[in-house]
Amino acid sequence: GQCSAHCPTGAIVEYDETVDVWNRLQDPDAYCVVQIAPAVRVAVGEAFGFPMGANLTGKIYASLRRMGFKAVFDTNFGADLTIIEEAAEFKSRLLEGTGALPLITSCCPGWVDFMEKFHGDMIDHFSSCKSPHEMVGVLSKTYYAEKMGIDPARIFVVSVMPCTAKKSEIIRSKEMSSSGYQDVDVSLTTREFARMIKQSGIDFVGIPEEQPDHMLGAYTGAGTIFGATGGVMEAALRTAHYYVTGEDAPRVDFEMTRGLKGVKEGKLTVAGKEIRVAVAHGLANVEQVLEKVRTAREAGEELPYHFIEVMACAGGCVGGGGQPYGATNELRTKRAAGLYQEDQAGLWRCSHHNPYIKELYADFLGDIGSHKAHDLLHTGYQVLPEYKR
Ligand code: SF4
Repeated sequence: GQCSAHCPTGAIVEYDETVDVWNRLQDPDAYCVVQIAPAVRVAVGEAFGFPMGANLTGKIYASLRRMGFKAVFDTNFGADLTIIEEAAEFKSRLLEGTGALPLITSCCPGWVDFMEKFHGDMIDHFSSCKSPHEMVGVLSKTYYAEKMGIDPARIFVVSVMPCTAKKSEIIRSKEMSSSGYQDVDVSLTTREFARMIKQSGIDFVGIPEEQPDHMLGAYTGAGTIFGATGGVMEAALRTAHYYVTGEDAPRVDFEMTRGLKGVKEGKLTVAGKEIRVAVAHGLANVEQVLEKVRTAREAGEELPYHFIEVMACAGGCVGGGGQPYGATNELRTKRAAGLYQEDQAGLWRCSHHNPYIKELYADFLGDIGSHKAHDLLHTGYQVLPEYKR
């Protein structure tokens, strides 16, 4: 996703959708709701003179309300929900053999596109979970619409993402409209969002902080760290530990997944079973991890990993192609630190502790992995024929 942002000749012009969003906000028939990704909150401040990595979640919520959004949700809630479904998927593949191991994360559309083109033999390993912003999108038009008595056809979902690849993810397959409506209508980058704040004349530096709309906006620290490389794995391990043993892990910090090393590997023992994990960020680093899996598979040896996290961008989404220009490792590290600090300070640090997620299952989805959850929250992948190996 970074190519348009870094095209050296300027021949590729970034597609700007801020005008579409302003038009919708002024349309009396549209009920506009919005969500922000984890990595956006620790980067947008750079456009307003805040220190690197400053976490501005409350000011972002407040600004979005001033712009006219009727509800302000948080993609971190969707990240918690992705973890609930994905950790359950991991547990059943691990203990019941319901699918291929290693399980590979699928929340990064840059990576999903790359896999479908160049690593189609890995398709069965992919988690079927939709990415967090898709989950918040589909629930805005089903659960939220139902609870609030709003016609889902009127709901217009905007996601603010650190990512340019999210713009195409929203239309990538029929499952992205499994409710009968497209889950997310427009995906803006952090840069477009910063532009909208400036266009609106909002005093972003001075605006008092606000809270999200909790129904699809309350989140745990596990949801927050999704924005940094290794964060999805760490969040998943917290909840997978609970699912496998029935108890929370004695320590929820899994440092082996943190930091900017290209490939991070680690092991942990859960209920007497060794779980081996790998985290790769930047597509060049993915190759060596997949090669290890292929080699072991072909030799009939024990698999090197049970669970793999992949993010296409260096540093994960904090270094995403839709973030303010000029990411350096110092910036990536500081943005990530802003997320880990929030996780550390929070009341809830495991996705399965999110009371609003519990309510969502109790009132609407039924059981984890239910038919309804599957219909709304999961998707599929296909090897693109012209790229078949
Ligand atoms: Fe998008 Fe990059 Fe994050 Fe992948 S790692 S979801 S391409 S910002």
